[in-house]
Amino acid sequence: MVCCAEQNIQLWPAEGTSGKETQPSPLCATTSAGCFIGDITVKTLEEKRKANLKAVQKHRQTEKFKITIKRYYQSKKCKAMSKRRYIRYPERFKAKQSVNYAVIINKIPHIKTRRCYFCFEQAQEYHHYKGYERKFWLEVIPVCIKCHTKIHKGVA
Ligand SMILES: [Zn+2]
Ligand SMILES: [Zn+2]
Repeated sequence: MVCCAEQNIQLWPAEGTSGKETQPSPLCATTSAGCFIGDITVKTLEEKRKANLKAVQKHRQTEKFKITIKRYYQSKKCKAMSKRRYIRYPERFKAKQSVNYAVIINKIPHIKTRRCYFCFEQAQEYHHYKGYERKFWLEVIPVCIKCHTKIHKGVA
């Protein structure tokens, strides 16, 4: 890995800066077998994740899934969980619920298809950057957990 690290830096800009997917460098492949394997692994994982995402999205369109979701939202477990969250942060809870619903009806893309607004890593949550008032419920940006924690701690 070390032997071709410098070449990598010269050939490819840091991930997220160009907005393009990084590709294994052909130079890198010939100079170091270890690096080559490493790049391939990353690529395969990325492909696997995309394939998995497609399957999930397809599954979400099925009637079976809609029934399961509906049943879950009506279940005691869900209600108990909701109540606990609701008591702690009622506004935040309602804002989150509306985002979840918007994703289900395809008004907002699924979080797995987005990149973090700040660091371009895979996003994991939606952040209500304008607050939790009703009119801002769908005013969200995709963020990763690290950046999201920072925002709420007031560091970022
Ligand atoms: Zn981030
Ligand atoms: Zn947030």
